[in-house]
Amino acid sequence: MEQDARRKLVRVALAAVLLVVLKIVEKSLAFPMLALFFLYLVPYLVVGYDVLAEAWEEIREGEVFSEDFLMGIATIGALVIGFLPGAEPEFTEAVFVMLFFQVGEIFEDMAEDNSRKSITRLMDIRPDTANVERDGKVLVVDPNEVAVGETIVVKPGEKVPMDGVVVEGASSLDTVALTGESAPREVSVGDSVYSGCVNQRGLIRMKVSKVFGESTASKILELVEHASEGKSHSERFITRFARIYTPVVVVGALAVAFLPPLFSGDFLASFSTWLIRALTFLVVSCPCALVISVPLTFFSGIGCASKQGILVKGSNYLEALSQAGIVVFDKTGTLTKGVFEVTAVHPSEMDETQLLHLAAHVERYSTHPIAASLRAAYPHEADSCTVEDVEEVAGQGVRATVNGRVVCVGNTKLMDAIGAQWKPCEKTGTIIHVAVDGIYAGHIVISDAVKGDSKEAIQNLKAEGVRKTVMLTGDRKEVAESVAKELGLDECHAELLPADKVDWVEKLLASKEQGRTLAFVGDGINDAPVLARADVGIAMGAMGSDAAIDAADVVLMDDKPSKIALVVRIARRTLAIAKENVVFAIAVKVAVLVLAAFGLATMWMAVFADVGVMVLAVLNATRALNQKG
Ligand code: ADP
Ligand code: MG
Repeated sequence: MEQDARRKLVRVALAAVLLVVLKIVEKSLAFPMLALFFLYLVPYLVVGYDVLAEAWEEIREGEVFSEDFLMGIATIGALVIGFLPGAEPEFTEAVFVMLFFQVGEIFEDMAEDNSRKSITRLMDIRPDTANVERDGKVLVVDPNEVAVGETIVVKPGEKVPMDGVVVEGASSLDTVALTGESAPREVSVGDSVYSGCVNQRGLIRMKVSKVFGESTASKILELVEHASEGKSHSERFITRFARIYTPVVVVGALAVAFLPPLFSGDFLASFSTWLIRALTFLVVSCPCALVISVPLTFFSGIGCASKQGILVKGSNYLEALSQAGIVVFDKTGTLTKGVFEVTAVHPSEMDETQLLHLAAHVERYSTHPIAASLRAAYPHEADSCTVEDVEEVAGQGVRATVNGRVVCVGNTKLMDAIGAQWKPCEKTGTIIHVAVDGIYAGHIVISDAVKGDSKEAIQNLKAEGVRKTVMLTGDRKEVAESVAKELGLDECHAELLPADKVDWVEKLLASKEQGRTLAFVGDGINDAPVLARADVGIAMGAMGSDAAIDAADVVLMDDKPSKIALVVRIARRTLAIAKENVVFAIAVKVAVLVLAAFGLATMWMAVFADVGVMVLAVLNATRALNQKG
């Protein structure tokens, strides 16, 4: 428990004890009214002074109708009502209302603390130190002080403090904090490792590739810390609602207090009765259950998603996901593994090895999955050849100068652009053509497999109420159609450049149903514009891809498409819980308000209605945190 909450709890306990003592003393000794007032003022102020101070503060800031204000006038009214002719004193009630209000606040603090902890605990990836090698010695330093290019040592059991590449040793890394899944990742020399993983076995030495502030762990932490800033419509609605509702209630209370006595003929005789009803009215009307539980529900929903390795950058995106009507996917690396295998090599001017050799060289610096597979197909790529002027054309391929000759590696669009006479291929698969100095040199056929859970992901999305699933790809039509058919996608559009993908998303956005949203899912490789254009941009495989973390609204730490259906489900349940809370709170309030206006509800009932509703609403909100996948 936070210190504030603990202090508040002590005050509540102290006030409760004082109240009990007062009750006993009051029975045995006959105090005059004024003395009682001052005696009860002690526990009242002990428990509620900060509420009064807050209310005053808010009034000075121009926000007259806060919930502290409602509580303040209701309780002050109850304290002084006893001095009216013919009225019963309500001292106990006044202290009790304050006491309960504070219990509710403590409760809410604890619940919020809980969701925050479960977000940060699961994201417990902040490394405290790094073991850096300097002048042959290993020094333990703050990770912020380690520069790119330095060598650090990660011992078994330690967190990897920053991103880098293994230069010595092998181990398995536990990525559970990042992905929500505990499958270990084996790494050895040459592999990239990301900060936030835990080294399980061997000692590894690694060369730092990013400063701490730009490493995966820092980026994710930053994202998590700001997750609750994006406000959803529901939350904004509640704020607006409270702004109108509270003044209305205050006017209502004034009407209850003054109108009936005015019309009764004998104002003084009935005023105290109606005033106590008006005060009860004020206590019931406090909108805290709403104001507190809706944001808390969203916060818990975001916490639940992060447990599964899904980072949602704000409640607004959670809300948008719950209304997803169209989900658009990128193909390569998103629905398919993005791990291509070379299935055929058809050279025109040279032998197979030479063709693979050229392709691997041109692709030396590209991060595209195709590039990785071409490099893998020619493992002796690091020879003495010179590779210069590398230029990657998104959605088409790469151009580079290899030993003085301009080599282009890519699809037919690229070949057409340079006027090379490409030859079609009868094989199915992605065809990568190669041209040297504008002369066609042959092609390499590569193929990719769909991910194991892609089909299930599409089915589950449909089950969650998504109307349309669409695939957009830069790959060939034949390949695209076979994937779309295999997965049961509703639409697929192939041979697109990144700009064409944006156009398609615009078209789909225009066609979507009222009140529904469009989500785009990509792997972050050349699809940042589309991620930004969609209502919700989802990037997967964020471990290691900064562009994806930055451009997306929702980040999947691993690259499982089934997580998309999962986050939609979490979003829908979270929204349902938020709605339950709103309906429940308003219904109970209205009922008690009506009772209070007719004098059927006592101030005791009002307190229980108010705090009870709030406690139930908070408990309900925390259900959003503990949803099962
Ligand atoms: P997707 O939409 O399936 O993710 P991209 O837009 O990334 O595909 O790429 C579309 C096409 O452009 C690829 O199928 C390939 O033909 C070509 N291409 C893109 N990048 C490269 C590259 N680095 N090397 C060769 N071809 C590439
Ligand atoms: Mg792609």
